Amino acid sequence: MTETADGAPGAVLTTDREAIAWNLRSLRTAFAPSRIMLVVKADAYGHGLRPVYETALAEGVEDFAALDIETGAELRSLGAAGTLFVWRIGPSSDFALAQRAGLELGVQSRWQLERIATLDAAEGRLAVHLKLDTGLHRGGADPAEWDALVDAALALQREGRLRVRGAWTHFSDTSPEDDERSFAQFTAAVDRARGRGAEFEVLHAAASGAGIDFPESRLDFVRLGLGAYGISPFEDRDGRDLGLRLALELTAPVLSVAESEAAVGVGFGDGLQSAPDGEMWLSIDGAPHPIRRVEVDRTIVDRVPGIDIGPGSLAYCFGDGEHGEATAERWAEAFRTVPDEIVTGVTARVTRRIR
Ligand SMILES: *Cc1c(COP(=O)(O)O)cnc(C)c1O
Repeated sequence: MTETADGAPGAVLTTDREAIAWNLRSLRTAFAPSRIMLVVKADAYGHGLRPVYETALAEGVEDFAALDIETGAELRSLGAAGTLFVWRIGPSSDFALAQRAGLELGVQSRWQLERIATLDAAEGRLAVHLKLDTGLHRGGADPAEWDALVDAALALQREGRLRVRGAWTHFSDTSPEDDERSFAQFTAAVDRARGRGAEFEVLHAAASGAGIDFPESRLDFVRLGLGAYGISPFEDRDGRDLGLRLALELTAPVLSVAESEAAVGVGFGDGLQSAPDGEMWLSIDGAPHPIRRVEVDRTIVDRVPGIDIGPGSLAYCFGDGEHGEATAERWAEAFRTVPDEIVTGVTARVTRRIR
């Protein structure tokens, strides 16, 4: 039987809370006793901050990593009680808001410490996590600057101006050897900082990839992004291979049908890109319908002999594969990009649903 679209005129992006809950349960068990710090950057990788926050909380995940101060403060206002870690801190960042919301800041430079030192400590001491760059070169103190950063933070802690709560790094995830090298660098730097008087309460380094494949690196927190949303961080395995479920599904109604082709109500205005010729498909009635071309508001697919579709039939663009649709990883392969870009690339005009 052909499934039909239920009223939305265009594309619909559905967040599947049960899939997120499933992924969190399975990874929480795998990572224990390390805890999950759930990464919710880019509107929770396109899944919606609020439904993801609520689902996580119901699964006992209370610690979040939110990129910017505004998102961290939004989580606090939703009622989040655990660690709210943010790490994109620029000169125009609202440090006072971070302080009011009790956020914990990933800090990598002296100027950030100096800005924190200007806050009124009577309003509460901001907690900082010092970042070491272990080779990704996307921020973090160089190993050569590390001791000076540690000393400066400890001096301010002695003055009662902040609290040095953690140390962290971010792996490049380019190879297991690179991550192991980074990890060794990190633990050596942590030991040195301890020698200088730092008493770190929490250490974190791994994101999804190292969290899954490099148990030793899990430390206190795994900063989990992709895996929570059912997306594999690895090129040689997809989410299903890892026992995870993709939590986002993009569907659209069939608009019109001709003898050899059909038009579907999703286009590049919705974030669907033009696939290399004939390589990608939309799944309608369980059958892959090859994409002929993508226009701004619609996509033309080939009809498939023996499959009786009509206006209002439901086309699956991406999802967990249950309806024969391509996964986010499969789309990413076709476009030579990462699956994060597929799931966060759906545009604002697409109707959001939560189930
Ligand atoms: C995005 C990000 C993560 C999460 O990475 P995934 O591969 O999505 O799990 C963790 N830490 C930092 C600093 C990040 O930017």
